[in-house]
Amino acid sequence: MTKKQSSDQRVSVLVVEDEESFVDALTVGLGREGFDVTIARDGQLAMTSFAEGHFDVVLLDLMLPKVSGLDVCRAIRSQSSVPIIVVSAKGEEVDMVLMLEIGADDYVTKPYRLRELVARIRAVLRRRHDFDELASDELITLGNIRMDIDARRLYVNDEEIKLRKKEFALLRLLLENPGRVLTREVLIDRVWGSDYVGDTKTLDVHIKRLRTLIEDEPKNPTHITTVRGVGYRYEVVKG
Ligand code: CA
Repeated sequence: MTKKQSSDQRVSVLVVEDEESFVDALTVGLGREGFDVTIARDGQLAMTSFAEGHFDVVLLDLMLPKVSGLDVCRAIRSQSSVPIIVVSAKGEEVDMVLMLEIGADDYVTKPYRLRELVARIRAVLRRRHDFDELASDELITLGNIRMDIDARRLYVNDEEIKLRKKEFALLRLLLENPGRVLTREVLIDRVWGSDYVGDTKTLDVHIKRLRTLIEDEPKNPTHITTVRGVGYRYEVVKG
């Protein structure tokens, strides 16, 4: 019997954390939010727990005894596509681009608010759910944005917006990964590939143009947000 079958409705979270105060707060806080919480206090236990259980999401502290969070992330990602949210301590030297490249879905920095953490967990789960739905549906609808991939059309508030080829590809990539930080490297590689020459501003110019087309206030974007020094994220807006 797997854990998944015995608790179908509940989201199962593997919390990899060695600081007792965080362990206590997360056990209580996430439990109250209706999550099933399993604690692993070092990197080795994290990998054992992951192999033995079935988890919907992994919350992974980076500074861990025995095996580092970085290595745990790599190991889990090599065998599973489970969403991973990385947790780093304030002031810790963390290469976020590297974290995202080795497969973390998102990250938070300590100290964080439980409410923020829960929102991030729900966002990665929603993204996974949306992604599963997308597998059989070529129509993406997020809030007031609707993209028909087959017909290569975009609608904002039911009005068609004309996009150039690269703009469409870029927005599609963002829409297909709602709530997820996409690094500049990933965006450039997936949209331009070897066509991308020289000017590193090209990506930003395209983002800027997309914002003028889909944002209510392009200078204060709520859909496509900038993750400074890392890349961009398409925000999942509630409702
Ligand atoms: Ca730690």
